[in-house]
Amino acid sequence: MPGIVEVPAVWIQGGSCSGCSVSVLNSLAPSIANVLIDDVVPGKHINLRFHATIMAGAGQPVIQVLEDTRERSRGEYLLVVEGAIPTADGGVYCRMGERDGEHVTFHRWAVDLGRDALAVIALGTCACFGGIPGGAPNPTGVKPLMDIYREAGVATPLINVPGCAPHPDWFVGTLAGVLLGGLPKADELDDLLRPKAFFGNLVHEHCPRRAYFDEGKFAAHFGEPGCLYELGCKGPITYADCPDRGWNSGVSWCIKAGMGCQACTQPEFPDLGSFYTKLADVDVPRIGDCWRREG
Ligand code: SF4
Ligand code: SF4
Repeated sequence: MPGIVEVPAVWIQGGSCSGCSVSVLNSLAPSIANVLIDDVVPGKHINLRFHATIMAGAGQPVIQVLEDTRERSRGEYLLVVEGAIPTADGGVYCRMGERDGEHVTFHRWAVDLGRDALAVIALGTCACFGGIPGGAPNPTGVKPLMDIYREAGVATPLINVPGCAPHPDWFVGTLAGVLLGGLPKADELDDLLRPKAFFGNLVHEHCPRRAYFDEGKFAAHFGEPGCLYELGCKGPITYADCPDRGWNSGVSWCIKAGMGCQACTQPEFPDLGSFYTKLADVDVPRIGDCWRREG
């Protein structure tokens, strides 16, 4: 297209349920059609060359697209990594395509494509931190992409966009930010490489039930008013903007729907116990009790 900068992108999926793709495909503003067909930001268009869930092709011809992108667009393409990266037993638990008649592990693809990319987005908690496939006892030896890159000496800029699943705005906003302003500056990411624009505050900080927590009023059963801490809410340790952004175009989100936050954007997920296991070691202020004592 004349006057339009085409930014090549490849999106690979490892040990995943494809939920991250499904979530992003449900982006409403902009729609996924806008993201893939129109300019994501004025003058810049994403040329998505590989995505196993939505592309029509299969087999060696599409694997060749990955190889060609790496060779011919070195340092110019965006890589999206969705899903866990198994490392046990030589990475045999997740493989994709062949090179010279040999299966290629997902670990190999993530490293090779990452080394030559302009930037990498780890999408979803499985890619960022291990997620559900990496939960104890982690039989396939899943590691976070950032650990794999550290071990392999891959220095390409990496942005973590976690979530199980990630909110479509978190991905589209991160992508648009890279295209508009370049790679994020160090102070725009937290120490886990998450964009502070989306992951800068605790769910607990902006929770609509926070006043109940401060008063020490806790729900004993689902459906009751009160803070959901005793019922397993992990909001006090979870960084995400769900209370402000909402899900499904702001219609609802976990706590608004009456369920505690499950820390789905955190490295601790899913090993904090069940959905209903109370967080340990959270200081409960009980402001109401202080006031009553003094009164
Ligand atoms: S513990 Fe959960 S429900 Fe209670 S205020 Fe914090 S985030 Fe909200
Ligand atoms: S409220 Fe918690 S569990 Fe729900 S989507 Fe947000 S970070 Fe994930």
